[in-house]
Amino acid sequence: MPSSSSASSTFQIEYPTCNCGKPSPMRKSKTKENPGRRFLGCGNYENGKKNCEYFYWIDPDPKLRTNLML
Ligand SMILES: [Zn+2]
Repeated sequence: MPSSSSASSTFQIEYPTCNCGKPSPMRKSKTKENPGRRFLGCGNYENGKKNCEYFYWIDPDPKLRTNLML
């Protein structure tokens, strides 16, 4: 049994920054159209301040996914 040292560097997801220069954490959509669909939004999205309209879906469109599986 090789007792190799475990990976010292933990994998970290680097969030992209929005146009405000803020890190945009992953969020989950709560809309009827895309329930639970993950996306990246502006760092100020929840602050109610300036929203630079940065928006990027992480998960593919559930409708498209359904079509691909057919
Ligand atoms: Zn922003």
